Amino acid sequence: MNVAWIGLGNMGGPMAANLVAAGTAVRGYDVSETAAQAAAGLGVEVVGSIAEAVRDADIVFTMLPRGEHVREVLTAPDGVLANVRPGTLIVDESTIDIDVARELHQVATEAGARFLDAPVSGGVSGAAAGTLTIMVGGKAEDLEEVRPLLEVLGGRVVHAGDAGNGQAAKIVNNMMCGVILAVTCEGAVLSKRLGLDPATFHSIAATSSGDSWVLRTWYPEKGVVESAAVNRDFEGGFSVALLHKDLGLAVNAGESTGTPLPFVTQARDAMASLIDAGQANKDCSVLVKKVDGTLDTPAG
Ligand code: NAD
Repeated sequence: MNVAWIGLGNMGGPMAANLVAAGTAVRGYDVSETAAQAAAGLGVEVVGSIAEAVRDADIVFTMLPRGEHVREVLTAPDGVLANVRPGTLIVDESTIDIDVARELHQVATEAGARFLDAPVSGGVSGAAAGTLTIMVGGKAEDLEEVRPLLEVLGGRVVHAGDAGNGQAAKIVNNMMCGVILAVTCEGAVLSKRLGLDPATFHSIAATSSGDSWVLRTWYPEKGVVESAAVNRDFEGGFSVALLHKDLGLAVNAGESTGTPLPFVTQARDAMASLIDAGQANKDCSVLVKKVDGTLDTPAG
């Protein structure tokens, strides 16, 4: 089976590498030379264009920042749909708007291809470990075709329903994650100021009702949780810009369904303030620096 992978960033790079490690040849493309080189170092055959990557592909994965990138990569004159063989299955792993995902299902079908929205949860550490949860919207038979590959990428692959339902599940999941992150940053700072040792408080919360995936994976105090971005000066991980995007998608979904989401709105605004403070590319747990008052803001 020939696999193409477009978007070899923090998530796409290690995911494509896991397919390679499992014995699948992957031809990849990324506009960023840095991302492309890192993926090449992990065994992905990096090529110079989307056309070259997808020409002989049976399955094309995309893992891109936003809906507009996925739309562009699929529909541009030199993009995926213009260069794939008829019937090729396109599996979008990115987190994008539900409406754009549904539009792309239709556009791909009209172009003679097939499409699944298959966003993931589990972060960069889950991408590297192959333990992501993958939530899939689209036809069950298309999912079954790609399931063996998805099971290499993730520990759990769930059919969420029709076109766009994978994105719907992902957006609701991520808005919960974003609010939990915000309160975990506040808890990390408050517990320290109340005199608790960070590792001691973390171990208490991890077996108490304050436990969460964010607490166990992203706890924003140095030296407490190995996978946390605080240990790497908030480099890599899940960026402020991407969480801001996801929370905005949730707020939009709340508005379109008449669902009040005041906590989600506050968490989105907190991410917006970090973007204003020049932190867009840092891991979202950098919010802890805003809570403890140590955030350096750009001059002026
Ligand atoms: P990233 O910015 O690290 O990677 C995206 C990659 O896409 C970049 O390398 C970029 O150069 C590339 N790209 C952009 N436009 C392109 C184009 N036209 N052609 C080819 N490549 C292009 O982002 P990421 O953290 O890997 O996230 C990717 C997606 O996964 C996002 O939708 C995000 O919301 C979602 N996601 C991220 C995480 C996480 O923890 N980072 C977790 C779950 C889901």
